[in-house]
Amino acid sequence: MQLRSRNPRAFILSRPVLPCAQCGTTLFGPEWSEYIDDRRVRHLWSCDACDYRFESIVCFPAPESIAA
Ligand SMILES: [Zn+2]
Repeated sequence: MQLRSRNPRAFILSRPVLPCAQCGTTLFGPEWSEYIDDRRVRHLWSCDACDYRFESIVCFPAPESIAA
């Protein structure tokens, strides 16, 4: 027997999720993403509930062991 439905929790965890900075509605995935440099990504979020737009910046851990 096989379940046809996907696991929604696993699907959500695989994507960037953020609560709206204004109303707290959970936003599933940024509207726009761009790389600032090798270790930083800027996400632009747009809330359907309150129409608020804001940015978040994700910083990946610096590879300190690799001294350039
Ligand atoms: Zn909102």
